[in-house]
Amino acid sequence: MFNSPQLGSTTDAALPVIDMQESAETLAHLVTVIYPTIFFPPTTVDSLMALLAALQKYGMGLEVDGTLAKYRAQFRLSYLPRFLVEQACRAYMLAVHYRLKEEAQLAARALLASPVTFESCGDDMRLLPTGAALHDLVQYRVGCRDAAKAALLDGLASHDDSAWFRSPERRIPIQEPSPFGGGSMSRTVMAQECTTQRRPVRGCAQSPALPGWLATHLEYIHTKLGVAGGLALSADVEAAVFESCSSALQAHLDGGGAEYCVSCAAAHAEDRDVLWTTLAKTIGKAIAEVAFECFW
Ligand SMILES: [Zn+2]
Repeated sequence: MFNSPQLGSTTDAALPVIDMQESAETLAHLVTVIYPTIFFPPTTVDSLMALLAALQKYGMGLEVDGTLAKYRAQFRLSYLPRFLVEQACRAYMLAVHYRLKEEAQLAARALLASPVTFESCGDDMRLLPTGAALHDLVQYRVGCRDAAKAALLDGLASHDDSAWFRSPERRIPIQEPSPFGGGSMSRTVMAQECTTQRRPVRGCAQSPALPGWLATHLEYIHTKLGVAGGLALSADVEAAVFESCSSALQAHLDGGGAEYCVSCAAAHAEDRDVLWTTLAKTIGKAIAEVAFECFW
């Protein structure tokens, strides 16, 4: 618990003074967590990590009911996210410094939103006691990227094509002005084939034959997932995939001077959303399941 107990030094004959490893600030955080007084919360990622380290240290083997371990989990979940948006890199380095594995995993996950380079890490790298932590981080990022790419292709292969751009034989409802005046009337027409030739997505053996523009766009997403400057594997990756597909559809419909695609325009929005949502959620789930393995 202590660097070296200093039982001999006292400022009061009745009260011994003991030097501790933690700073006065960290001890103030720690003591006000467990004592019924005004809580003195950490306000920086550095002070938060020091508190978490203290909670980990003093919660091991000292608390029969795991009270301090519970506090640590609460701080990890309620305070740490506040710093991960802007300081994920420093949070990761500090977590390694204090050997806080759960916190390191959360920080590594948050870091997926950003490229990690020696320049971006800067002086925070001085906090690392071992280079192995950088290797663990790289392996985790590579694992997430590969999982995301595989999930895209797997999700595509397992998707029921009948829910998306059904065959040209299907009938679709349309609304048009009534020839008798007085509003609109509805009728059904035969769906037409997409103006871009159907084809499977390259690299996906079980890919259904999708409209060419969509196959091209999904190949683009596959290339850009987890690549610097592409689609970051952040918590927003599901929304990014969805938005990317929506934009690609709009570009297809706008056509750039090409023939307007009645088939894609008439495809039910819910059908499109089902495919894009399914793919996006499959990718997000695959990333979440990648374990952060550390050997420090
Ligand atoms: Zn089309």
